Amino acid sequence: MSELKFLCDRMLRKLATWLRIAGYDTLYVADLEFEGDEDTYMVYNHTDRILLTRDKELFRRAKTVGRPVFLIKSDDVAMQMAELKEMGVRFELKMERCSVCNTPLRRPSDEEALEVMRREGIREDLREKYELWFCEKCRKLYWMGSHWRNMVEFLKRVENIYKH
Ligand SMILES: [Zn+2]
Repeated sequence: MSELKFLCDRMLRKLATWLRIAGYDTLYVADLEFEGDEDTYMVYNHTDRILLTRDKELFRRAKTVGRPVFLIKSDDVAMQMAELKEMGVRFELKMERCSVCNTPLRRPSDEEALEVMRREGIREDLREKYELWFCEKCRKLYWMGSHWRNMVEFLKRVENIYKH
């Protein structure tokens, strides 16, 4: 698991999701509970994480007080992912974190797997075809199904941006 950890501003929801898919511990500010001004919160909290922002003002403010911060320039998520290359971020598909809530995934018990499959109408033979992973906070199952192939295709596109 990577040492790099992130806090994403409100404009970077998709990037936060992709960072989690790639195994990076990533918070998305709109999911956090706090009181007061959002920018101020991001400047002074979770300072063990790199703040990722599209906002130049916020970037300057964070820099001024020495808060780790990185300015994202593009508004396209594939380009944003390419921009993170310079700090050593690698987008590979990992079954390590829930893409929705950032909780580390684990293998489900039989009971947990069946509970989710029944609730969501997933065929039980899925368990024979795929390795299942489980987010205990969302009660959600993950597996490398057809959506996974689409994600692989998307990452190839990001790789091509890296090359240019
Ligand atoms: Zn979750």
